[in-house]
Amino acid sequence: MYALGVDIGSTASKVMILDMEGNIASSAIVGFGAGTSGSQKAVEQAFSQIGIGWEDIGYTVSTGYGRNRFEKSDKQISELSCHAKGIAKLIPGVRTVIDIGGQDVKVLQLSEDGVLENFIMNEKCAAGTGRFLDVMARVLESSTDQLGALDAQSTQAVEISSTCTVFAESEVISHLADGADVADIVAGIHDSVAHRTAGLAKRVGIVPIVGMSGGVAQNSGVVRALEQALGQPIHVPPNTQLVGAYGAALMALKKCVRK
Ligand code: ADP
Repeated sequence: MYALGVDIGSTASKVMILDMEGNIASSAIVGFGAGTSGSQKAVEQAFSQIGIGWEDIGYTVSTGYGRNRFEKSDKQISELSCHAKGIAKLIPGVRTVIDIGGQDVKVLQLSEDGVLENFIMNEKCAAGTGRFLDVMARVLESSTDQLGALDAQSTQAVEISSTCTVFAESEVISHLADGADVADIVAGIHDSVAHRTAGLAKRVGIVPIVGMSGGVAQNSGVVRALEQALGQPIHVPPNTQLVGAYGAALMALKKCVRK
């Protein structure tokens, strides 16, 4: 028997399958989120990696923006609880969690024993989210997964003063037209994301250890800029985009064991 966690975000669907000892049996990420077939595809991929089917699943927890539309789930749990659960297991002692996904930014505060105590969220605007970075990468004729490497080559970050995605895009285009170095523009974009996120984080208070979850934590340039803005090291767990699915699977595992 296995426990299944499905995290259906705005941008991507993530699946994690645990065996009864809590070990990761398989996982999958599909770049389509809520309202698409991404979640079914991710489940199929994770099943086929280990040659199992629905009959082998003891309990399913779905989470994320699209969690209520996943018909096969036994329980829907908010992504805040699932991210807290997943990251507390991966980074023991974590107290502040910055989660940057495709369309929102959340800062979570956890108690000493890893229970969610408080959170703050920006979901009103694309600025500072994965979507903002995806748009900027395209203007720079690059891709989102190249931004971290470009940031590392920067010698002098260019200042991006607009926070609005549309105006920031125009600003980037004008820096390019003026012949600014792409790596320096990328570093400026990361600094602007970090500045916004740090402002949000300071409103809930930053208690070390600080961890990061969500797809954008794979961008080492954002992590670099956030560490500078917060004056704190940031711990990024492996498989950071799967943290919510992992938390959901851990909650499903508890139910399997009780069955
Ligand atoms: P959601 O849960 O809202 O769907 P995710 O936490 O899955 O969001 O993160 C999706 C975002 O992660 C994308 O918008 C993209 O910007 C970013 N992302 C995904 N893969 C990478 C990568 N390899 N490097 C940098 N950023 C990435």
